[in-house]
Amino acid sequence: MTMNPSFRPWGRPATRGDLPLLGELFSAQGWMSRLLSVGETAVDLRERIALLEEELARETALARTDSLTGLANRRGLAPAAEQAWRLCAREGRPLAMLLVDADYFKQFNDHFGHVAGDDCLRILAALAHAVASRPGDVAARYGGEEFLLLLPNTDGVGAQHVAERMRSAVVGARLPHPQNLIHGGVVTVSIGAATTWPQPNQLVAASVSAIVEQADQALYEAKSSGRNRVNVKDG
Ligand code: GH3
Ligand code: MG
Ligand code: MG
Repeated sequence: MTMNPSFRPWGRPATRGDLPLLGELFSAQGWMSRLLSVGETAVDLRERIALLEEELARETALARTDSLTGLANRRGLAPAAEQAWRLCAREGRPLAMLLVDADYFKQFNDHFGHVAGDDCLRILAALAHAVASRPGDVAARYGGEEFLLLLPNTDGVGAQHVAERMRSAVVGARLPHPQNLIHGGVVTVSIGAATTWPQPNQLVAASVSAIVEQADQALYEAKSSGRNRVNVKDG
C-alpha cells in the first residue's frame, strides 16, 4: 500500500501551530516507553526478590541442620520446641522430651577412632529419627553424642514407651563396643525423659529450658544408676 505524501492523521498538512501538539505526542511516547521499562524493572526486581528469598530459606535450613547426621541441630530445635509448646498449651495436651546419650562414647572413639565414632553417631541419629516417627515429633542432635527427641502430645507412659523403643533399637543394632562389656560389648544409650502439661500463660522459652533441664537431670540419674536404661520424670 502506498502512502499519500500529504497524508496527515489530523486530516491536513502540519503547520507551525501544531508544534505543541507534536511535542505532547512525542513526550507521551517517551512516558509510554519509560512506563514499559519501569514494568520490566519491576518484573526483574520481583524475580530477584524471589531468588533471594529462596536462598535465605536454603541458608536458614542449612544453619538449622547438623551436618554430620542431617538431624535438626540446637538452632533448629529451638523454634520447633517453642512451636510444640504453644500447640500443646493451646490444645491442653502433654509434651515430652527425651535426652539420649551414648554410653562410654569417649572410649568408643579412643578404641575405634573418630571416623568410626562419626559413623556410629549417624546410625544413632537414624534410629532416633525412626523412633520419633509421629507427625510433630522432632529428633535433634543436641550435642556431641547426645540427641533430643521432642514428642508433642505424649505423656509419661508414652515417653517411657518411646524411650524404651530407642534404647532397645540401639542394643538391637549390635554395634561393637568392647569397652562396654558390662552391657554385652555393644553400643548402648542412657535416656532421661521429662513430661509436662504446657499452660498458655507460661513464658515459652523459659518453660522449654526448664523441661530440658528436667530431662537432663533424669539422664544424669540414668547414668549414675548403671547406664543402658531409661529414667522418666513425669510432670
Ligand atoms: P557417659 O557414658 O558418661 O556418657 O560417657 P561418655 O564417654 O559418652 O561421655 P563424655 O562426655 O566423657 O565423652 C563424650 C565423648 O563423645 C567425647 C568425644 O570423644 C565424643 N564425641 C563428641 N562429639 C563427637 C563427634 O562429633 N564425633 C565423634 N566421633 N565423637 C564425638
Ligand atoms: Mg554426653
Ligand atoms: Mg555419653
